[in-house]
Amino acid sequence: MSWSLNIGTVAGTIVRVHLTFLLFLGWIFAASYASSGAAAAWDTLLFIVLLFLCVLLHEFGHIFTARAFGVTTPYVTLLPIGGVAQLERIPEQPGQEFLIAIAGPLVNVAIAFLLVLFAGAQLNAGASAVDNTQIAMVDRLAAVNLFIALFNMIPAFPMDGGRVLRAALASKLGYVRATEIAASIGQFVAFALGFIGLLFNPILIFIAIFVYLAASSEAHMVALRAVSRGVPVSHAMMTQFATLMPDAHVEEAVQTLLATSQGEFPVVDGAGKPVGLLGRADIIKAIKTLGPDARVADAMAAELPTIGHRRSLEDAFKLLQEKQAPAVGITDASGALVGLVTSETIAEMVMLQNALPPGGRIGPWSRPAGA
Ligand SMILES: [Zn+2]
Repeated sequence: MSWSLNIGTVAGTIVRVHLTFLLFLGWIFAASYASSGAAAAWDTLLFIVLLFLCVLLHEFGHIFTARAFGVTTPYVTLLPIGGVAQLERIPEQPGQEFLIAIAGPLVNVAIAFLLVLFAGAQLNAGASAVDNTQIAMVDRLAAVNLFIALFNMIPAFPMDGGRVLRAALASKLGYVRATEIAASIGQFVAFALGFIGLLFNPILIFIAIFVYLAASSEAHMVALRAVSRGVPVSHAMMTQFATLMPDAHVEEAVQTLLATSQGEFPVVDGAGKPVGLLGRADIIKAIKTLGPDARVADAMAAELPTIGHRRSLEDAFKLLQEKQAPAVGITDASGALVGLVTSETIAEMVMLQNALPPGGRIGPWSRPAGA
């Protein structure tokens, strides 16, 4: 995360600028200076900064609408390819997602409208030549805002249009199927963009890679969440795993690391209650800096997030994501550790679900199709 600079906080959301964005500004300035001189270079730089201000306003369109539904946004990051607002979660109510998604492009339409009404901007085809400093800046800004709105409404995930499409499909087909369709279209658009990029503009190739990865990861996440819904965590947790005591030596952790296939070891006290987690990286770091005689308690880094064994796998999965933890501990009524859930546990669960015949599936997918 050190690749981003915080430039301020707006209504509880931290605005960050990715370092590649600053490099991008420098590169634009230098290229424009070399081809057209200092005046044109400053004009272009001002244009790009105003353009990204519009991108930021677009993101705040999403952020403020999400807030109206009780979803906060800790960060918004500016990248050379645009802005990314990291919403805490995406509501699964299609109507809410629809409004959050459409709010961004509407902001750009509104900006273009205001520029025409109050700044005398003229919309014509020539204004789309954004690097032509002969054309008035307001004309170019109005044109480029309309372009942003249109580009974002491409009905492909992860563009806003893809979310609008998913929301529209989700009311009929369900959230998972709707995401699959929107993500497939997203991947198709990514290939098309990449191909056009190869022929005309290498920047498009980067956008294509971004679109492809984002579409894949969204489809994957939604599928995982769907599989984990309604399944008791006790059905999917790992129950055979090695643990360590807080006052054991790190040397013992090394032996356990070598003797098992585990990468993370829950640290439990005498009563079996979890007090922390020791990962492979922690063990290696402790050996280097503290030596093999150090205590596990001094080497363990993160605390282990835990939930009760009667909760659902979906809750465990949510906790895993929220805490960015490598594992979630499952505890019984007395608070003792009885199981462990990692992202691999859930991935195995997905593979099993797909291998079983439909009647044998556990969880929500055991319902007959269409129910
Ligand atoms: Zn957007």
